[in-house]
Amino acid sequence: MYTVCCDCGLEHHESVDYACRSCSGILLPAYEKTAATPLHETELNGIWKYHRYLPPVPKEYRVYMGEGTTPLIPSVSLGAKLGIGELYFKYEGGNPTGSYKDRIAAMGLSWARAAGRTACIGTTSGNAGAAVAAYAGRAGMPYHLYVLEHMAEAKLAQVLVHKAQVRKVKEFGTNPEVGELVFQRIFQAAVKRNWEVMITAYRYNPYAMEGVKTIAFELFEQLKGVPSHIYTPVGGGGLYCGIWKGFDELQADARSDGMPHLVAVQPEGCSNIVKAYKAGSPVPLDGPSSTSISGLQVPNPPDGKLVLQVMHKGGGSAVSVEDSMIWEAQELLAEQEGIFCEPAAAASVAGLIQTCRDGIDRSAMRIVCIVSGTGFKDSRRLSDMTQNLTVPCLEVSELDI
Ligand SMILES: *Cc1c(COP(=O)(O)O)cnc(C)c1O
Ligand SMILES: [Zn+2]
Repeated sequence: MYTVCCDCGLEHHESVDYACRSCSGILLPAYEKTAATPLHETELNGIWKYHRYLPPVPKEYRVYMGEGTTPLIPSVSLGAKLGIGELYFKYEGGNPTGSYKDRIAAMGLSWARAAGRTACIGTTSGNAGAAVAAYAGRAGMPYHLYVLEHMAEAKLAQVLVHKAQVRKVKEFGTNPEVGELVFQRIFQAAVKRNWEVMITAYRYNPYAMEGVKTIAFELFEQLKGVPSHIYTPVGGGGLYCGIWKGFDELQADARSDGMPHLVAVQPEGCSNIVKAYKAGSPVPLDGPSSTSISGLQVPNPPDGKLVLQVMHKGGGSAVSVEDSMIWEAQELLAEQEGIFCEPAAAASVAGLIQTCRDGIDRSAMRIVCIVSGTGFKDSRRLSDMTQNLTVPCLEVSELDI
């Protein structure tokens, strides 16, 4: 494995860097492989099936607890209504801690163990913290986590269950200067103490993020080919980039002969990448976040530049949706498809519904929506969804059957 800078193209072959030595740009791992290298190893499970396409970690350091190999669920209702040839949901809520972040945590903690790190440290909007806390517990590594003052309750509880050392930081997430300081202190501490920085973006940890690519490999194997379109929610941008990178490597190795069109979906209230895409800007546009969708409130998306690189090369596009449309999509998935996901995860489906208003014929398309996390992640939304539904309580003599 070596790494390539996404800005200046400089290759780093010797030691392990987390940012470009020349321009501080984002590094993307690359691999020496031959066409004869099989994509997956049948006797291995989860992300490790694809270890030849992942940063090298000796077997004894790999952390595994059932992440990956998530179901690709065919739509029974929405696809037909929208006139789509084939519509599927890649349901990531089935991962051990309930979101696709487990793929990153499995890769990152394994990498950290192999590198002899003694702890890991990071920030989170919720799901990454839950995933890293669980995998750090399993890897026997302390986890120091700094979070926003108002983190989604169920996600904070999940972090606490796994006994991560959590600190809330006042004004973190609202005051950009505070954010900057927190990141600086985290990096200083990590270098000084030989800790791994577990922040889920290629910008901060390109090795851990390679775990996301396994979504692309699984889709390719499950569909026996490349879908025409993939809709994905976008917060920091790492999920989008990882999926793109996976398909790009399949194509580069001549396993596939095409790329999917990747649609990034953001809530209107935090649509910095959508606005940049429409304006032709290479970097996300500044602006505060006003969306209430937990997980997608990322005013400065760390991998935003990479996402926009993909789009400006013709590999994808971007669409924004109102929070209310995301909630409707979440309800629709639960009622008509049987899939209960968190609002951030339903954003992909809301984006698809929004795009389909253009009336284009989609009968020959094969579309996948990434449904990135389970519904139990957002307890406030869960009670909002159900509080007006009354459940009658009957005497046995009154049974209405
Ligand atoms: C983190 C997360 C996202 C956004 O992923 P990014 O890599 O930050 O763009 C979407 N959905 C869920 C459930 C998440 O946990
Ligand atoms: Zn560079």
